[in-house]
Amino acid sequence: MIRVTTFKDKTVAVFGLGASGLATVRALGAGGARVAAWDDSEAGRKAAADAGAPLVDLAVADWSEFAALVLAPGVPLTHPEPHWTVAKAKVAGVEVIGDVELFFRERRATSPKAPVVAITGTNGKSTTTALVAHLLSELGNDVQMGGNIGRAVLTLEPPAENRIHVLELSSFQIDLAPTADPTVAVLLNITPDHIDRHGTVAHYAEVKRRLVEGAQETVVIGIDDDWCADIARALEKRSGGPKVRRISVREPVADGVYSLDGTLHERSHHHEQATPIDLGGIATLRGRHNWQNAAAAVAVVEALPLASAHRVGLAGGLASFPGLPHRLELVKRWGPVEFINDSKATNADSTEKALASFAGNIYWILGGKPKAGGITTLEPYFPRIAKAYLIGEATEEFAATLGNAVPFERCGTLDFAVRRAADDALAANQENSVVLLSPACASYDQFRNFEIRGDAFKRFVADLAAERAGT
Ligand code: ADP
Repeated sequence: MIRVTTFKDKTVAVFGLGASGLATVRALGAGGARVAAWDDSEAGRKAAADAGAPLVDLAVADWSEFAALVLAPGVPLTHPEPHWTVAKAKVAGVEVIGDVELFFRERRATSPKAPVVAITGTNGKSTTTALVAHLLSELGNDVQMGGNIGRAVLTLEPPAENRIHVLELSSFQIDLAPTADPTVAVLLNITPDHIDRHGTVAHYAEVKRRLVEGAQETVVIGIDDDWCADIARALEKRSGGPKVRRISVREPVADGVYSLDGTLHERSHHHEQATPIDLGGIATLRGRHNWQNAAAAVAVVEALPLASAHRVGLAGGLASFPGLPHRLELVKRWGPVEFINDSKATNADSTEKALASFAGNIYWILGGKPKAGGITTLEPYFPRIAKAYLIGEATEEFAATLGNAVPFERCGTLDFAVRRAADDALAANQENSVVLLSPACASYDQFRNFEIRGDAFKRFVADLAAERAGT
């Protein structure tokens, strides 16, 4: 745990008592602050009280006593409207920050040279964060990973010069971390998302920009969308700012890392820097979107002096990346057929990434609770689909979209779909074929969340294989 000493002997209000809120309460307490903790939900308050959090009803508290309000990232700061605690803080002139801000202030106070990598973007944050942490560990570093992935940031080991913190940051966390100054900041991409919480894409992009502007040494930035390309240009124009390393999977870059065909090239001032690294055959880094994640990760490792990146180590580290569950996760190879769990794909954009990752022979399981627009944007990929297996509420809508373009079957439930897809794919017995769960839908008509849906898929595949092995 990180002891937050920057509020020693002061009183801090903490609102939102989930995992990160409770960690904040402990970290502040351990550093000598007085804490006033609160949550809107009775159950949340009870759990927090059981965990020893000092509860104070912030609705009736004297706000002039508070040095800061630490807000959980899930609580609205600005949109659709500020939470009532934010309104009270504003009236009382109390600053509103998050646990990530506490982390950066503590680092500044205790170990300002401790290396920190902060990673954001609309998509690919978790994969890139996990990959950076994996590469740095493989290269022999002491690595702490957390933030929006895995553990809350204040539960990690404290910052230190011989330890690298790798943090995934959502835009909500950045919004609450006004002085975040990572050694290396990564901005992968910006596409319209979470507009409900940020008002406009411009504001959303502005929040992301803030993180890279705070970087001390290096910014690693994807330039394949207009928002990020603009930010990269503005940063490059600023004299005395951080070094900018560009990432692209669309065009060669003069200074940075790019991949047009699955081979990573690294360039510095127009010169090829090292032997290219081939990502082909790395199952956990399939697809153009993962080339972007891998390019960013390599650029990060190269930017850290501690990392002592040997090319061999880097190539080996990429090859041994275990990947994250539910994102193009290889569950089983069965004859010539791969079974892939992409349950995290809860919308058509994510599923597009999956379909783009396989050239053909896709036995595609999809459906659930449909999103607006359905799967119409996926039509260009329909020729790659051998057959589709429809489940859940989306069945009739998706059947209409697939029409005569793709053979499909109404399967109702996931277990039946797995059975049918496996039978067809195994009978066809073609190389490079894949049974792919990439639902393009939310899960909650049939499963509580995408993790439970993905776990069920893995279980059904294993059960079916066991059943067939026994016959
Ligand atoms: P995040 O943490 O930003 O949600 P993940 O690494 O968990 O990102 O990936 C979530 C989904 O986003 C993946 O299943 C994939 O469909 C898509 N994705 C991953 N990386 C990228 C990328 N670099 N660009 C676009 N989409 C991506």
